[in-house]
Amino acid sequence: MPVTTEPFGTTPAGEPVDRCVLDDGAGVTVALLTYGATVQAVHAPGRHGTTANVALGFADLDGYLKDTTDPDGSAYLGATVGRYANRIGGAAFELDGTRYELPADPDGNLLHGGPGALHTKVWQAELPDPDAAVVRLSTVSSDGEQGFPGTLTVAVTFRLTGTELSIQFEATTDAPTVVNLTNHTYWNLAGEGSGDVLDHIAQVAAERYVPVDEAMIPLGELAPVEGTPLDLRADTVLGTRVREGHEQLVRARGLDFTYVIDGEPGTLREAAAIADPSSGRTLTLSTTEPGVQLYTGNFLDGSLVGTSGRMYRMGDGLALEPQHLPDSPNQPAFPTTVLRPGETLRSTSVYAFGVI
Ligand code: BGC
Repeated sequence: MPVTTEPFGTTPAGEPVDRCVLDDGAGVTVALLTYGATVQAVHAPGRHGTTANVALGFADLDGYLKDTTDPDGSAYLGATVGRYANRIGGAAFELDGTRYELPADPDGNLLHGGPGALHTKVWQAELPDPDAAVVRLSTVSSDGEQGFPGTLTVAVTFRLTGTELSIQFEATTDAPTVVNLTNHTYWNLAGEGSGDVLDHIAQVAAERYVPVDEAMIPLGELAPVEGTPLDLRADTVLGTRVREGHEQLVRARGLDFTYVIDGEPGTLREAAAIADPSSGRTLTLSTTEPGVQLYTGNFLDGSLVGTSGRMYRMGDGLALEPQHLPDSPNQPAFPTTVLRPGETLRSTSVYAFGVI
């Protein structure tokens, strides 16, 4: 069976949540939740055939409910994030002459769509091709939700082909709005709960990144990575970079930056690759998005207990989030995130698992 579905609990509002497992018979399996259109687990084989769960997550729905409604902020483990992933400075933007106010975090900005955003919804699941390992999850965000204009219809299709997972977003609106969607899986190729990812080797195909202020809001320009500890154009052990006293890294407590991926946005191109030398597991990310947020789990503080019953501490996962650039609605020089009626937002990212 390429897709198996089982119940995963019920939300406080009484909505049943399902867990769907994709298996294309090639050794990799992907477990998805209808809650938050979330990647709950990904099992991938290592060099000696030993399989591990390489995605941070929780064992039960309660874990997700507690984290996604935490007033001190969520970690967004595996979640679909929107309507605007990453930050909007000042929690406000102007579109076609109207100013829209959004829910502000303690820094006065909007992060990841705000409380009650797409990561907390129970999405509708469909199996568009019962013979393939594919699940399509969809939801509707009503006009005015979290302050955003327009009724937004969003679908995310997860397809496992061999050892490649593709995640495809589609969105339409009935009024002009801004949209930035991503998947927020944290990877640990040695297995979630096994420790930190600082010995992982990473490479990111980006000559430029988005420098930020103290509140992690873009300064406006795109800066070269050359000559900074953010330069990941060649294979780099993450642990050799995350403690560099560079002003940008100190602000982010490590790596937590949007890399502007080389090449043409809108075309699927290789963006990042990571490898775990101990298990031999590798992951290569390709995307059509202009950027990838690379985040070394700097704010994981031991307060979350993951799927295997071990706590997640700083650096225990690496999020690679394909997306538009942060704060684009307030940054005229960045690629636009405006979506208008009659248009369809389409975005594809492919996560290819391998072994060295
Ligand atoms: C952001 C981090 C933030 C985290 C929340 C990431 O996408 O880049 O700054 O703390 O999400 O869990």
